[in-house]
Amino acid sequence: MGHRRIGCPDRPIFLFDWIWFYERGPRMTAVGMSRMTASHTKIVATVGPASRSPECLVRLIEAGVDVFRINTAHGQPAEHAETLDRIRQASRQVGQPVAVLVDLAGPKIRLGEIPGGQLHCQMGQRVRFIRSNGPLLPGELTTTYPQLIDDLQVGDRLMLADGTVAMVVRSRSADYVECEVVQPGILRSRQGVNLPGVRLSLPALSEADTASARWAAQQSVDFLGLSFVRRPEDVSMLRELLRPYPSPPQIVAKIEKPEALQQLEAIVRAADAVMVARGDLGVETDIAQIAIVQKQIVAACRQWRRPVIIATQMLESMTNEQLPTRAEATDVANAILDGADACMLSAETAVGHNPVGAVEMMHRIALATEPFDRTYLPPTEEPAAEGLDPVTEATARAAGQLADQLEAKMLLVATATGATALCLSKYRFRVPVWGASPSEATLRRMCLYWGVTPLPAAPTENSTDLLAYAIQKGRQLGYLQSGDRVVLLTGSDVTGRTHNMIQVHTVSAGSLG
Ligand code: PEP
Repeated sequence: MGHRRIGCPDRPIFLFDWIWFYERGPRMTAVGMSRMTASHTKIVATVGPASRSPECLVRLIEAGVDVFRINTAHGQPAEHAETLDRIRQASRQVGQPVAVLVDLAGPKIRLGEIPGGQLHCQMGQRVRFIRSNGPLLPGELTTTYPQLIDDLQVGDRLMLADGTVAMVVRSRSADYVECEVVQPGILRSRQGVNLPGVRLSLPALSEADTASARWAAQQSVDFLGLSFVRRPEDVSMLRELLRPYPSPPQIVAKIEKPEALQQLEAIVRAADAVMVARGDLGVETDIAQIAIVQKQIVAACRQWRRPVIIATQMLESMTNEQLPTRAEATDVANAILDGADACMLSAETAVGHNPVGAVEMMHRIALATEPFDRTYLPPTEEPAAEGLDPVTEATARAAGQLADQLEAKMLLVATATGATALCLSKYRFRVPVWGASPSEATLRRMCLYWGVTPLPAAPTENSTDLLAYAIQKGRQLGYLQSGDRVVLLTGSDVTGRTHNMIQVHTVSAGSLG
């Protein structure tokens, strides 16, 4: 451990890093020996040029990454395929299940090429968006969505370049819309165009998205991110596309449009998981409301039991700096205290100078915050236990309460699909949940579930065998000691779907592994 290199792009080692490593050591999970203390909060890291080397991926897993995000908005399909192979290889090398989230670009509109590469927009200046791809006159712009000029109405607002430049439509004709710059700045070719509140006729999935989704399903990728979701039907359309595949990815609805907030509950219920995509959300909605919107989305996900990821600019300044700002450290902690299951790193790990350092920092903040989440977590309505057998639901809840009361070290659950593990996760019991499953897809899916450690286990008919195996693993890792309590949640038919049995076991020197 002491000889591990820190960061990914080579950089000097800082005293700060060493103090941290000597104090805490790396993280531990059930299978790998590399992590000594796993946070309950899951970490999603975006892979990019700074982190896609095989060595860096290994170090990121050791530092605490649970889910890697491959963003199809950047790079080429061949590169994404290579990144996926490398992640799977790194996961095998560390001996640790890691999930992959393939993020579809979605109906994102971008500027076309600007002559000279950029346009300085002055306050009050008039700019025309035109349909044609021919030569542009000064002050003319095109986009990747030529029908844009049909969808825009006088008075509509355009936010460009991540919201740094704003315009309002003043007039329109069959061939152009004329806009007035109301927030000046510089536009560059291919930058994003957001149209808050404008109803676009763009399909939810572009041809490129459809191809990426099919590829991800063929590769048994775990999660697919659907960008710019506007209505629950967008999620259903993607689900339909994935239906023919034997192990389709779970769908992560990215909430980043005001329309999505109007149908939030229906979208949350249609999806398997949710992302608060604050990058575009902060442009499409009033940035002053973003904290409240985040809380509303997280609350809906707690209510409907969907894992929720908080994304974008969590530790942004660590893209270039050694430490986050106070505000960023507080943001990660507050996301956890809102009830988020996972926090995501974007530029920090994709193009940052020290991707491993950013993951370690997020992990440290999670460890420092989690003991207080019971104190600060907002109360939630009784979760809607959709699709879970009522016996399993009641037994799982009782098992969690029992395990917390006994201060058990492990709540072991045999789980075929991960649904019971997700139910336990959403109650946020203190006890670490170990989700045992023979299914690789289930193990990887549980990488996103707060407080759940995936435990690869051979199929067994016998709960005593499963308990002995988990205790043996826990002891090997130095996690369980004699006297520790382990609570097992299972069914009278261990491989069956109903969980109707709770067993409390005290680890002793001679018994059960
Ligand atoms: C976001 O907008 O916050 C986000 C995560 O999406 P992307 O990184 O794909 O723009």
